[in-house]
Amino acid sequence: LAQHYLGRIQADTLNAFTHVDPALTLAQAAAADQRIASGDITALTGIPIAHKDIFVTRDWRSTAGSKMLENYVSPFDATVVEHFKRAGTVTLGKLNCDEFAMGSSNENSYFGAVKNPWDITAVPGGSSGGSAAAIAARLAPAVTGTDTGGSIRQPAAFCGVTGIKPTYGSVSRFGMIAFASSLDQGGPMAQTAEDCSLLLNTMVGFDEKDSTSVTRDKEDFSRDLNQSIKGLRIGVPREFFGAGLASDVEQAVRAALSEYEKLGATLVDISLPKTELSIPVYYIIAPAEASSNLSRFDGVRYGHRATEYKDLNDMYRKTRTEGFGDEVKRRILTGAYVLSHGYYDAYYLQAQKIRRLIAQDFQAAFEQCDVIMGPVAPTVAWDLGAKSDDPVANYLADIFTLSTSLAGLPGMSIPCGFGQGEKNSKRPVGLQIIGNYFAEAKLLNVAHQFQ
Ligand code: GLN
Repeated sequence: LAQHYLGRIQADTLNAFTHVDPALTLAQAAAADQRIASGDITALTGIPIAHKDIFVTRDWRSTAGSKMLENYVSPFDATVVEHFKRAGTVTLGKLNCDEFAMGSSNENSYFGAVKNPWDITAVPGGSSGGSAAAIAARLAPAVTGTDTGGSIRQPAAFCGVTGIKPTYGSVSRFGMIAFASSLDQGGPMAQTAEDCSLLLNTMVGFDEKDSTSVTRDKEDFSRDLNQSIKGLRIGVPREFFGAGLASDVEQAVRAALSEYEKLGATLVDISLPKTELSIPVYYIIAPAEASSNLSRFDGVRYGHRATEYKDLNDMYRKTRTEGFGDEVKRRILTGAYVLSHGYYDAYYLQAQKIRRLIAQDFQAAFEQCDVIMGPVAPTVAWDLGAKSDDPVANYLADIFTLSTSLAGLPGMSIPCGFGQGEKNSKRPVGLQIIGNYFAEAKLLNVAHQFQ
């Protein structure tokens, strides 16, 4: 298996990987073979997996898609990586992503954009663009991603694969290079919900090294896959189907909803009135946390350091000027601004209050329905370069994924057809399924019944 995928990766022209090391991979594969021969197996022993380059790994470089960490090799594994190693998976390498996971198109990577396998003139989505492209192009059967405001769900939608962002606190953030700590959440991407359930079984678990990790009994996320969904109440939020939703996306999503009705579900008209506010709220809170998290990249502790400088301050300035890309700098500036004296109350505190109201909207909705469904993004994947000079256009396209993240709820994306975009090419559409806290097994069941 490892040889098969390494062969495909070597022929890859999508730029999905940032680092592969076939010798290391094959050594892990040999160890997995031995383990299998001795009968010591888990559901994932010998299965090749690739990690978003946000998870630190002991043997491969961990770059976060940034020049700042171009040659950085971590002395330890992220908890997620450790879990997979213990299960006997074989690491194929590290996957390209937007710099520090900031972006929606994977064009913010220092290592260059990733191409969408369905149409190489389109973006794969972001920030886990390399992860989604690798699954879609069959460069890996399983990958990890991270989702702060949609980075698993939106690239999964753009590349026609399945991805799930679990409830905040389910998957350890230890060793996941931090972007916005109150939102960051790791999760799997694969071809199907069934595969995702097996990956989630390995990823989820309490970790004392992550202060926001939740303690819960171990669950088997594949336990309900085959349950009937007769009588399931699907909330369809009005605000997800308004102006701005492209007609090709709307058509594919509505067709999926009719399929669910045929499977015995009922559609319930619901409202998530603060959906629109999730954009300004997220783009205040996420940069605020990013500005604090990224202060550690100072040229002293690790990563890039400027070679010529006058004094310590000059070293900081040059290191960060050279090491960070434009979008990262934009977020640091915005974050520092909204946290500064005189603006904190007006922006940051206000955003935190609205964040609470957004979470309450979901709780009100879940009194009327079991899951919520809608589009993942307002359009199919756009052309490479089409929005790269327009950060606000990128932010606006996150409208349907941000509120779930702000509320800490689980959400997933499954392929539900194709649109044309503006180019009359075949570009995948994702159906978003949102559940209440810790309803991952339900989401996977609902997704599996459709697949
Ligand atoms: N597109 C969003 C952003 O740029 C979300 C990214 C993410 O989930 N990591 O912040």
